[in-house]
Amino acid sequence: MNRRIFVFDIFGLGVFSIFKNKIKFIKNTEMARSVSTWKTSDANLKAGQLLDKGSNSLDAAVEGVAIEELNPKNTTVGLGGAPDRTGIVTLDACVMNHLGDCGSVVAVENIVHVARLAKDVMEKTPHVMLAGEGAEEFAYTQGYKSRDLLTKESKKEWKDWLKNQEYKPIINIENHDTIGMLCLDKYNNISGACTSSGLAYKMRGRVGDSPIIGSGLFIDNKVGGAVATGLGEEIVKTVGSHLVVELMRQGKSPQEACEIAVKRIADNNKQDNRFQVAYLAINKSGEVGSYSIEPGFSYMDYFNRENKEIISASAY
Ligand code: ASP
Repeated sequence: MNRRIFVFDIFGLGVFSIFKNKIKFIKNTEMARSVSTWKTSDANLKAGQLLDKGSNSLDAAVEGVAIEELNPKNTTVGLGGAPDRTGIVTLDACVMNHLGDCGSVVAVENIVHVARLAKDVMEKTPHVMLAGEGAEEFAYTQGYKSRDLLTKESKKEWKDWLKNQEYKPIINIENHDTIGMLCLDKYNNISGACTSSGLAYKMRGRVGDSPIIGSGLFIDNKVGGAVATGLGEEIVKTVGSHLVVELMRQGKSPQEACEIAVKRIADNNKQDNRFQVAYLAINKSGEVGSYSIEPGFSYMDYFNRENKEIISASAY
């Protein structure tokens, strides 16, 4: 595995990196910035503060989203995430770093920190993606503890849902608050993480866009990175995050790229069957853009020690 190793920060000016036996000095750019989907304020603050302390972009993203994975009030991520229609919580996550390495886990039960697990898949296995029981077994070999992800509240809501069993993914935050996070570190490297329990009351075995590299998350360190949230079934049809990054490669700003990518699928949004899709992107200069189909999408932006919620523009 081609891993870059960073050694000692020289009076805050930069670090030496060792990659493929070559030693290089990388100057701090002070451009550290972290953005994350929805009102994931604590998670984004954690990532931003780690970046300010000199953390690399991958560690900052994975430890940032870990806050939301442990938050039982977020019903679309980790602990307290809504179960599938059989009452079982299954989680999806992926990570991608500035070298283009990536890892992913899908339909994992009983493990809270699935973004960390995706990073372990990337760093400690010869594979990119592990699913279901295999991913869970791998987690135990790495020291993860088993935990019931269904909380009293999420169990009660599922029991209420069972009365009508109407599967109607609501268009906005009520049913999507998957966290996708992009971090740009002081060494001008971009990484990201995306973690979700997917859509509430999905069919058993359903996997959305969030753990699919290119759909829920894509990074190209020469260009930028993008993350997606919303109805995964629509996002995968255009490999959404990859599309946003490719548009930036062609010279579009993050904002323009998100708008074009959203508009490409907004036409499928029929009056009687509306759904939400949103993209968030960052480029190598630290510029950020976002766009959604429906109003109501916002993201967190940590820059220069300030962590702000930004309301995204939307197609409708
Ligand atoms: N994109 C996620 C999925 O389809 C849902 C979300 O963004 O909340 O699984």
